[in-house]
Amino acid sequence: MSQNTKYLLSVVVPCYNDMQCLDEVLDRVRTACEGCVDDFQLILVDDGSDDGSWEKIESLAAREPHITGVCLTRNFGQERALLAGLRHCTGDLVLLLDADLQDPPELLPQMLRGIERGADVVYGQRQSRRGESSLKKLTAWSYYVLFNAIAEIEIPRNVGYFRLMTRQVADAIVNLPQQPYFLRGVGAWVGYRQEPLRYVRDPRTVGTSGWPMKRMLQLATQGVVSFSTLPLRLPLYLAIGCAIALLLVASTSQVREALVSDGASMIVLLSLATVNFLVLGIFGLYLARIHQNNSRMPPYLVRTVVNAPRNRHVKHKGYENAEIETGLHAH
Ligand code: UDP
Ligand code: MG
Repeated sequence: MSQNTKYLLSVVVPCYNDMQCLDEVLDRVRTACEGCVDDFQLILVDDGSDDGSWEKIESLAAREPHITGVCLTRNFGQERALLAGLRHCTGDLVLLLDADLQDPPELLPQMLRGIERGADVVYGQRQSRRGESSLKKLTAWSYYVLFNAIAEIEIPRNVGYFRLMTRQVADAIVNLPQQPYFLRGVGAWVGYRQEPLRYVRDPRTVGTSGWPMKRMLQLATQGVVSFSTLPLRLPLYLAIGCAIALLLVASTSQVREALVSDGASMIVLLSLATVNFLVLGIFGLYLARIHQNNSRMPPYLVRTVVNAPRNRHVKHKGYENAEIETGLHAH
């Protein structure tokens, strides 16, 4: 994309009870876009908020033709809200942004320079995570280490959803045949030329994080299940360990005697039961993933769209089959 290219930027913002931030989102996005892009559209996705966010989005959209509002039927979570936004945007470039403005839209010019240098994706990489608890930092760090050790792809550390991508990458993501659980993994999986942009992540100015621990754990497991089959091979390694133990027991009378005394046999029994249930649990997680994919449930439902972009099929060649549907978004 040459420096003289005029392009439309879509800014996709999922919103869950972040009503107070929306005026500032619009102001800061507009300012950031000045002089950088030809035009912009702001896709605000209300993910089942109960603080009046949708009414706020409707009133902003009524006076701002730049704004498209997408209202989901309930809270589906940030990942699915982002997917809904991606499916509705029509820009040549797409920026994913949080409504709470922890990731500054002012980095847009720097991100654009990355695209102009030939990158397809410029993703924000947090240099520091100000305002986050030590527990959150530690769990995030441990997860990256574990995930990258066992997954078939590598996700960069300290990277969230904040990124600028070309239409081609956005299309690749939304046209995946499977439900893209764990969008961060999908973002890495699609490949293309990706470039980091290091930045300092600001603390939330108002409100609280909309990610309950239960959902974080679900996402973390989905990530591993979607991108690694190593846990499925775990029973094989455990079987090798058990076979070695069996050989030892069978060949050494001292070990045999130690095991029948002092409740040691009980410990052995319970350890084996634990391992058995662990293996069953792992199988269950993979089975659940297959079940979810087979159930063909859409990832989210849309209640209303305001100011839906109309020019999608005209503007983007190669995207003719991806009809925008209001209501049910089936695959
Ligand atoms: N969000 C959402 N649905 C949810 C939770 C969050 O759309 O169920 C949005 C939220 O409004 C914000 C972004 O996702 O725009 C990031 O959420 P949050 O700030 O709670 O996450 P954190 O920054 O703590 O990771
Ligand atoms: Mg946040």
